Amino acid sequence: MKDTYYHKGMRRKLVDELKQKGISDEKVLQAIGALPRHFFLDKAFEEQAYEDKAFPIGQGQTISQPYTVAFQTELLNLKIGDRILEIGTGSGYQAAILALLGAEVFTVERQEVLYQKTKLLLKQIGIHKVRCFFGDGNNGLPAFAPFDKILVTAGSTEIPDNLLQQLNVNGIMVIPVGSLEQEMKQIVKLNSTETQVETYGTFKFVPFQKGINKM
Ligand code: SAH
Repeated sequence: MKDTYYHKGMRRKLVDELKQKGISDEKVLQAIGALPRHFFLDKAFEEQAYEDKAFPIGQGQTISQPYTVAFQTELLNLKIGDRILEIGTGSGYQAAILALLGAEVFTVERQEVLYQKTKLLLKQIGIHKVRCFFGDGNNGLPAFAPFDKILVTAGSTEIPDNLLQQLNVNGIMVIPVGSLEQEMKQIVKLNSTETQVETYGTFKFVPFQKGINKM
């Protein structure tokens, strides 16, 4: 896999586009400017990899649009060393962005094909701070809880209580909630029973499903 001046040039344009669309966190923009998104897509999409669009990654799933990745990442307010649980590994692009920002990433995927493929890819491109798990994200990862941050990258009909249980007090969960379309929610856990919820714009994600899909 090669990252050329051509790709770097396209990434710079993408970063400018994201700034124009309102993304302002310099660290997030830097991470998007540094990470070759075309590594996470099939060769057929190489030319389009730096368009601000979602693309198919197989198994009926998609890599999120860069704007969405940037928006969700901003809302997480990441600190170096944060332990973060991502639900929906997909292509691994979002997980790699979190790792570049200094987080310790635990990511769960329910499609075994994607889990296998992405685990290998992250290893090949030298992203070592991401640990991949195959399973149903509805369960979270109790063995590794609690987390400082939880990021759900599939559209959920509710805020899963099970995941809130695995979040530290003062931790943040970012999750798109809704069925056909979702509203982005940023949830701060105030104590074991109370949360503070902020709602942001409307997005379109693939659904947060139940159970696993084995090869
Ligand atoms: N973060 C990904 C986005 C992938 S799309 C990226 O950067 O590419 C959302 C992903 O969530 C899909 O791969 C889908 O299979 C996965 N998913 C949906 N429901 C899930 C669940 N219950 N547990 C784990 N993963 C789930």
